[in-house]
Amino acid sequence: MDLGLKGRVAIVAAASKGLGRAVAEEFARDGAEVAICARSAANLKNAADAIRKSTGRQVFSQELDVTRADAVHDFVAAVQKRFGRIDICVTNAGGPPSKKFLDISLEDWRNAFELTLMSAVYFAREVLPLMRQRHWGRLIAITSVSVKQPIDNLLLSNSLRAGVTGLMRSLANEFGPEGITVNCVCPGYTLTERLDELAEIQAKNAGLSREKIFERLGAHVPLGRVGKPEELAAVVAFLASERASYVNGCSIAVDGGYVKSLL
Ligand code: NAP
Repeated sequence: MDLGLKGRVAIVAAASKGLGRAVAEEFARDGAEVAICARSAANLKNAADAIRKSTGRQVFSQELDVTRADAVHDFVAAVQKRFGRIDICVTNAGGPPSKKFLDISLEDWRNAFELTLMSAVYFAREVLPLMRQRHWGRLIAITSVSVKQPIDNLLLSNSLRAGVTGLMRSLANEFGPEGITVNCVCPGYTLTERLDELAEIQAKNAGLSREKIFERLGAHVPLGRVGKPEELAAVVAFLASERASYVNGCSIAVDGGYVKSLL
């Protein structure tokens, strides 16, 4: 299926590793020019070089922390200057720490608010006016299945991603008339470094091996396994495409059937 991404310019936030990187690579493979960011310059360079090499597309990269509004502003301005347009923006960030409620400090709450919710606000504020000028755009937030079914010990994620979902659903209403669709993808357990870290913590708490934890996670999924980053990326690429022109305001789980709700 031709997704119609050729010639499109896509920003993918927090994309030096994991889901963001897989999304950037999928966009580039489908013909888009991509701009990626993350904090670690070395990982970012590795990711940009690898995507250029495997796809032959242009990759713009800039080191930044998505919790800084001024840095996001400068990055989006630099992408606009480099490519002359921004068609697609995928918001993403590292995951907040896994803790039980009484172990979460107020500082943890404030950090998670900046990391999870405000980072999406910062990108949306910068890209929507540019998309509006061209009367076309795709804003996609990577959230989590925790917005459909809270996950034990991930209270920060469970709470703040609900805020991102409310934000994106509201933007879908406000910017739909401008030719811009706004959607969320909700990954279930997907094998990235983030999941490795969470598995490590669970393994320690339960006195089990990491392998056993992955086996247990997979046992909760009707498909019997955790997901691969490229399986999430394929859905994001579809949402970013011409082919998804009538999909707006959705939160789509990519979780192998982990969430058991009807909708
Ligand atoms: P990951 O493998 O840990 O990758 C996170 C990426 O985000 C890295 O490139 C990291 O690079 C970047 N990043 C982190 N904090 C940043 C910041 N403040 N500013 C800029 N870049 C930042 O994580 P992942 O598994 O891809 O997860 C991505 C998101 O999806 C997370 O929010 C996670 O909670 C969520 N999620 C993941 C799963 C899963 O199973 N993997 C499931 C549900 C939801 P630097 O560290 O160099 O900045």
